[in-house]
Amino acid sequence: MYYSLPLRPLMNHKKVRVRFAPSPTGGLHLGGVRTVLYNYLFARHHGGDFVLRIEDTDQSRFVSGAEEYIMQCLTWCGILPDESPANPGLYGPYRQSERKALYAQYALQLVEQGNAYFAFDTTEGLEAMRENYKTEHHNAQYDARTRGFMRNSLTLSKEELTDLLACNTPHVIRIKMPVDQTLVFTDMIRGKVSFDTNLVDDKVLLKADGTPTYHLAVVVDDYLMKITHAFRGEEWLPSAPVHLLLWQYLGWESEMPQWAHLPLILKPDGNGKLSKRDGDRLGFPVFAMDWTDPRSNEQTIGFCERGFLPEAFINMLAMLGWNSGMEQEIFSKDELIQHFSIARVHKGGAKFDYEKAKWYNHQYIQQTDNTRLVDLLQPFIADKILPTDACKLATVIGLVKERLHLLGEFWEQASFFFIRPETIDIAAIQAKWNENTKQFFVLLAQKFAASTDWNHDTIELVFNEAVAEAGIKKGEAMLPLRVMLVGGKFGPGVFAIAEQIGITETVARIEQAISLL
Ligand code: GLU
Repeated sequence: MYYSLPLRPLMNHKKVRVRFAPSPTGGLHLGGVRTVLYNYLFARHHGGDFVLRIEDTDQSRFVSGAEEYIMQCLTWCGILPDESPANPGLYGPYRQSERKALYAQYALQLVEQGNAYFAFDTTEGLEAMRENYKTEHHNAQYDARTRGFMRNSLTLSKEELTDLLACNTPHVIRIKMPVDQTLVFTDMIRGKVSFDTNLVDDKVLLKADGTPTYHLAVVVDDYLMKITHAFRGEEWLPSAPVHLLLWQYLGWESEMPQWAHLPLILKPDGNGKLSKRDGDRLGFPVFAMDWTDPRSNEQTIGFCERGFLPEAFINMLAMLGWNSGMEQEIFSKDELIQHFSIARVHKGGAKFDYEKAKWYNHQYIQQTDNTRLVDLLQPFIADKILPTDACKLATVIGLVKERLHLLGEFWEQASFFFIRPETIDIAAIQAKWNENTKQFFVLLAQKFAASTDWNHDTIELVFNEAVAEAGIKKGEAMLPLRVMLVGGKFGPGVFAIAEQIGITETVARIEQAISLL
């Protein structure tokens, strides 16, 4: 039998409703944020709703604090849902744990229809099946081949079944996968995808404690919440046949959302899915924000705390698996909304490139207003800078921002504006140091100390006068002056630095360096 669903037109009569459905089990991987982002962009592009549904039915995987953390990440990224546990709409509750009572009736309906069955197998019974029915090439699973040998409502007599249910014997409800069918659906990214039902196992739909598994819950919730399009990671593709059948068996087929299975985000070398461990190994973040696992206390750094701007982060993520068809790489959120189309999401995985991610951040740092950068920098300098006025900080940021790829690099590039460098690269000065240069710097310090005006232009003027009087080359004097003020051969324009650190400090740093040489 061949069963196929046509792809419905993208904008049908219904309002677009999409959902991000994370399980609160840990840090939010950048792949998860990209799923949120594509949901969000698609919803906004089509004037639809974006729903956050927390899939916390699996209590064994539940991690406290993870839901709040997901909300923090979405808030930081500026991609907030229209409906969520915190901001419920008409289709709540938005946490599966609060929807528990809803699901069992559908599982029972399926049993009644003959599309699902009760299964009373013990852990040992399941293990024995896996052992007894495995072959050289195939692992055994609970399916058409093995279900006839197991303890379930398909093999038990009516009386046995009634007794077991009457005694509340622990049991699950499993879907009964049909035999010899090819299921086909049209994925918005991959086009026609087909599955052989013989290869899919009889997944548990309702667990012994009466709670649904992901498979049942996702279908029931997408239906009841009137979801029209479902974007999820490629890893969920193998579950699609089960979901397809549930939509069909429950009689909701015409309401089934259009699915888009998003390509994986790959390790930089393209060899497999990017994991948190790759980030640890290669020294870059993989989670959106810092995450501390409450069970192990293990801390993992996030893009936010590494010094990414949220708009750079989402611009970079948008391009990781999608292209606009234009040369342009920098897109504001509004531009992304305007240009985003599922037709341009790639089928193949996207390699993560940390250098490119930093390039995006660098671009955004350049175009961000210095006063906003002052705010964004606070967490990175809170323990460093002595109270200073925001105005000076904004000026300094303006001077060094072109050197920054991460906000976290600010201190390393700018500490000398606020505190005297602990060490000076004396060797860099010594190469060209002689009696003439020494005399020049003594003279320069005197002239600076006597200055009445102190700004970039007057400082340069005084410097030029001293160069002329001492009869040395300007080029020979510039580098040593920089090293004296900064500590090394880096930083923005040396007169701008002198202006910011002030007369007294400039003179003191020159005199201190002379005494060391
Ligand atoms: N709870 C699933 C997850 O954590 C959701 C998958 C889906 O979107 O259907 O990825």
